[in-house]
Amino acid sequence: MSSIRENIQEIVKTLPAGVHLIAVSKTKPVEYIREAYEAGQRAFGENRPQELASKYPQLPSDIEWHMIGQLQEKNVKYIASFVKLIHSVDSLRLLQKIDREAVKNDRVIDCLLEFHIAAEESKSGLTLSEACDILGCDAFKALTHVRIVGVMGIATYTEDRDQIRKEFRELYRIFEQLKAEFFKQQESFKELSMGMSGDYRIAVEEGSTMVRIGSSIFGARVYK
Ligand SMILES: *Cc1c(COP(=O)(O)O)cnc(C)c1O
Repeated sequence: MSSIRENIQEIVKTLPAGVHLIAVSKTKPVEYIREAYEAGQRAFGENRPQELASKYPQLPSDIEWHMIGQLQEKNVKYIASFVKLIHSVDSLRLLQKIDREAVKNDRVIDCLLEFHIAAEESKSGLTLSEACDILGCDAFKALTHVRIVGVMGIATYTEDRDQIRKEFRELYRIFEQLKAEFFKQQESFKELSMGMSGDYRIAVEEGSTMVRIGSSIFGARVYK
């Protein structure tokens, strides 16, 4: 079996300049994260706020922590003081909550809007028209401590490469439309978080700027 270091090096080698690797460390112990850190990896993704909050103080402070999983409003407080980017924003209420927690911590929190691009019912995320409703409304414009820097999506879990490609293209199209309509003057709106272990090569070909990779780095997850 190859090491965490080797896995990271293999993946990074294939990524074009400007595409960032988020190492998804959910369910994995801090020793694994430390090993990845020692190999030079600085950005890590977690999907549970409490797990993220408990790992954070045990690890070097120059790690960038990314929240990639569904986030309930009541849990924003656990991560608001340090989270680098929240990938999974799917409602105005959540944005408002993040804004309030950001104010308390005297910082601006960067967020991505998550879109529903998969064929599967179960995957969360917004539609383009829901996002336009949020971005166009006064309640959103009143927020001062959140900044939307791009979009995120999860493709269908399938062997059908064409299907996956089609879904990433759809996310790219959404990104471009939002950019044109709401973020023309905002240079920081530039991130497309798409691609996981099984489909990141396609995602990169379709314009991803951030790939979220877990099992190809740390091995398969065991859920108890
Ligand atoms: C778990 C997870 C990943 C990483 O999945 P792998 O298939 O292990 O690479 C990426 N994105 C999200 C949102 C996840 O929950």
